[in-house]
Formats: sequence, C-alpha cells, structure tokens
Amino acid sequence: MNTSNVHILKRTAKNIYSITPFTLLDFPGHPACIFWFSGCNMRCLYCYNPDIVLGKGSLRYNDALGFLKTRIGLLNGVVMSGGECTMHPYFIEFIAAVKQLGFLVKVDTNGSKPKVLQTLLEDTLIDYVALDFKAMPEKEIAITGGRFFEEFSASLDLLLFYDIPFEVRTTVHQSLLTSADILSMSGFLNQKSYKGVYYLQNFKSGVPTLGNIKSNRASLDHAALESSLIPVVIRN
Ligand code: SF4
Repeated sequence: MNTSNVHILKRTAKNIYSITPFTLLDFPGHPACIFWFSGCNMRCLYCYNPDIVLGKGSLRYNDALGFLKTRIGLLNGVVMSGGECTMHPYFIEFIAAVKQLGFLVKVDTNGSKPKVLQTLLEDTLIDYVALDFKAMPEKEIAITGGRFFEEFSASLDLLLFYDIPFEVRTTVHQSLLTSADILSMSGFLNQKSYKGVYYLQNFKSGVPTLGNIKSNRASLDHAALESSLIPVVIRN
C-alpha cells in the first residue's frame, strides 16, 4: 500500500458498524471475521439488518486494520458484508490493505456497483463473492425500493468473465417471490451461462426487518423448482 493510501485509511469516515470476530459459516472453507458496513442503497422489505442499514458506523478502516493485525495466523479470511460494502469511499484501497496483511477476502454484495467490482476483479483483490439476486425487474422495486437490475446483471457478467469462485443467492419471502418468480430468475441465470448452484435462503421469521414483514407461512413448490435448468438449493 502506498503512503498516501495509509493516510487516507486513517482519516476516512466511520464506515464499519461492527465486527464479528470469528465465523466458520460465512466464508466457505475459511475461518474468518466479518466487517459489517453501515448503510445500503437498497431497502429490502425482508432485510434482517435494519440497525446496520439505517445506523451509523463506529469504526474507521484503520480501526479494522488494527483488529486484523491481532488476528494474523488465527484467521485467514475476511468477509465484507453489511449493508452494502461496495458503496463506501476508499473500499478498494481498504481491501488492498487487507490483502497486504495476507487475508483472503470475500465480498457480500447486492451487485449495484459493478465498477467497483470490476476494479477488485482486475486487481485480483477478492477471492470469493456472494451476489444477491433480488428479483427480476418487474418485482425489484417492490422488494428493494430501488432499480439496480442492469447493475446486478453487469456484476454477474463480470464474475462470469473473471471466473473467480462465487455464488448467487436469493432470500425468499413467499409474499414477495413465488416459485414461478424463482424459476424465472433461475432461467435468467441459465441464459447467462451461470453454471453454479443457485442458493435460496428462506426468510427467517421472528426477527426485526426493514419492512416490518413477519410471517412466512406459504412454502415454495419444490416440485416446480425441479424444472429449473440450473441446480437450485434451499439452504435453510
Ligand atoms: S438485504 Fe437489502 S437492504 Fe438489507 S443489506 Fe442487503 S441489499 Fe441492503
């Protein structure tokens, strides 16, 4: 990292809401920590992290790097999550500093910042990506409050082109997405020649959400999902 980047990372705003110091679940195959970035450019009704999305950060990049220096040899991965981590200024410089410490980096993203993703991929700064697929365009705004389908599609194209390990995943609340929607989304992924698993994550009832939505009584039609042309796996 060059000297000017060191100074930038000391002075940045407090972008990071909190740190989970250890996880074996969030970075496939790697003991890792999670940096939760505050703020998001979407407002998904089912979002479980309203405090993180609406709240302010408490840690600067430099604080997070200080934490990582105490974990060298104990962890080998860092998950950048949130919120939407890619929307923060100097995110690329921060990841470069994390890589210089010897950690692998996973990015959890809604895909709304393909230019940031492109730089990270070009500079080989990331090792794994979890890309959220919110909905096809006709349902996107009702679920997320925004329009980012083109950006999502561009992010998917980049990940396919650079051929790094990544997964596509969708949170499913049956009042928002039906089995037919999921089949339409898996069809889109198939058209793009996505060869990986398409992960579905059932909405967890009983937790606070951004849209204050609660129950999730209906269930997906598993028989219908079997007609998907790519593998669809329900993760929870
Ligand atoms: S679920 Fe939606 S609102 Fe919540 S962090 Fe992810 S993209 Fe942002």
